[in-house]
Amino acid sequence: MGNSYYERRIELLQERMTRANVDAFFTLAAPTMRYLTGFTGEEGYLLALQGGVHLVVDGRFTTQAREECPWVDVIEYTGHFSGSIASLLVASHAHWLGFEKERVSFVQAEQMRAAFPSVTMVPTESVVEGMRVVKDSHELDMMRAAGRVADRAFNAMIGRLKAGMTENDVAALLEYEMRKAGAQGSSFSTIVGSGARGAMPHGVASGKVIERGDVIVIDFGVSYEGYMSDCTRTVALGEQPSEVLDVYAKLRGAQQLGLDCIKAGVSSRSVDTAVRGNLGESGLAQYFTHGLGHGVGLEIHEAPRLSQGTDTVLEPGQVVTCEPGVYLPGRYGMRIEDSVIVTATGFEPLTELPKELVLP
Ligand code: ZN
Ligand code: ZN
Repeated sequence: MGNSYYERRIELLQERMTRANVDAFFTLAAPTMRYLTGFTGEEGYLLALQGGVHLVVDGRFTTQAREECPWVDVIEYTGHFSGSIASLLVASHAHWLGFEKERVSFVQAEQMRAAFPSVTMVPTESVVEGMRVVKDSHELDMMRAAGRVADRAFNAMIGRLKAGMTENDVAALLEYEMRKAGAQGSSFSTIVGSGARGAMPHGVASGKVIERGDVIVIDFGVSYEGYMSDCTRTVALGEQPSEVLDVYAKLRGAQQLGLDCIKAGVSSRSVDTAVRGNLGESGLAQYFTHGLGHGVGLEIHEAPRLSQGTDTVLEPGQVVTCEPGVYLPGRYGMRIEDSVIVTATGFEPLTELPKELVLP
């Protein structure tokens, strides 16, 4: 990827800094740094000024930072990073230092206030997250690639899933196939919930042995070039009672309804409302105990949310999940999740996995 994307992002950041009434912006959040500069190290400190961007790192990351982002001034610090930032702030005559209030702990904020006496600290909200909500064409290409890698990994795993394996076996096999398919790893701890454990929406894989007849919820994602995929499939080993087939059919219908509601201009809450209403008609709404979906990108959970708690208007280039679930405590759980790109007329799916419940 050329540096024109990053230059554009820095320009946009500088415009947003002006609107936030700050003349300097500081971050220590890895996703923020990666988005603004391309730096993939897990530790660093970025200071953006109207005159340019400075990345302050320790000796472990100097070579990497200079290679990954030659368009940024990379400074290697010894001792404490705050000395380098403080010097830059004084030299630039900055007065108002914006920091990301959701990503800085109280202790860190107090330390910065003491270390940067030349500026007033200004808590900011979503300065960079707001830029990241709509993905640019490079990001969408990475998200599409992440989806394809995830599909390949799942297809390689599912052919070998059988009774007698533990949930951990299934998660390990899937994560192995993710790496083999080209991912740098999983985007979160793989969820494998079989039988009654499937009724815990976020129960990570355990040592439970999967038995014939179990309904199994598998929620997984890859990390690919920094971008996350997110997909859930529910599968069953062997014949299922008609009640289970019926509940699954209703859930699948509700998930499709949610997808069909997604397009630019639509209220994000209204998509959740439509799916919840549909499940209500089936008598299942009380078993759907979380929001319908969330944004995904450099982080697994981002804006916008598709839930009753928040509302926003969907825009082309956003990537959101649609993941209704039905959880019957003590019995079984089911969830179907797709990640899609919002378009002017609808959506583009990022995963193409089948949604048949019973494995052949
Ligand atoms: Zn998921
Ligand atoms: Zn999700």
